[in-house]
Amino acid sequence: MNLIQAIRTIPDYPKKGIMFRDITTLLGDAEAFRHAVDALVDPFRNEGITKVAGIEARGFILGGAIAYHLKAGFVPLRKRGKLPGETYAVEYALEYGVDSMEMHRDALIEGERTMLIDDLIATGGTAMAAVDLLRRAGAEVVAAGFVIDLPELGGAQKVIDAGVPVSSLVTFAGH
Ligand code: AMP
Repeated sequence: MNLIQAIRTIPDYPKKGIMFRDITTLLGDAEAFRHAVDALVDPFRNEGITKVAGIEARGFILGGAIAYHLKAGFVPLRKRGKLPGETYAVEYALEYGVDSMEMHRDALIEGERTMLIDDLIATGGTAMAAVDLLRRAGAEVVAAGFVIDLPELGGAQKVIDAGVPVSSLVTFAGH
């Protein structure tokens, strides 16, 4: 199964110079979707993971399926202002400007073995913010999984340096 073929690239979206790696085509392909979920789940079936944390919004789709297979709970990491309960919040740098992310303070219990999921890791700013939030809430972040890694942007290395092993299924050169 060649997952790369199931991912559509849209040049100059959302702005000029960005090669947008669109996973909606992968999600819409039953075989590719199953394969991606299984490949992210397989190394972690016996790792005692009790929570999967997904980053809004594409991390929700993958993370929900992965949590189901790991028999784990799901924790949404959301954009500011979307979660109704008490939250931890973190601001992080984007290429231009800043963004913020929140999680419920009571989403997990101290020491819970947690896997972080998003569709793609680029500079790692988003994933590092997520690791920060999860650790503040007491999670032991045992792995971070992505369908796509853009290794030239160094994000995966940043996450590894922060002590979280990274799994990814396909890589693209450039950014
Ligand atoms: P970063 O924080 O730089 O690692 O960016 C990761 C986040 O931005 C993920 O939630 C991705 O969905 C999104 N993203 C960044 N670059 C791309 C890209 N080239 N194609 C699709 N999504 C991207």
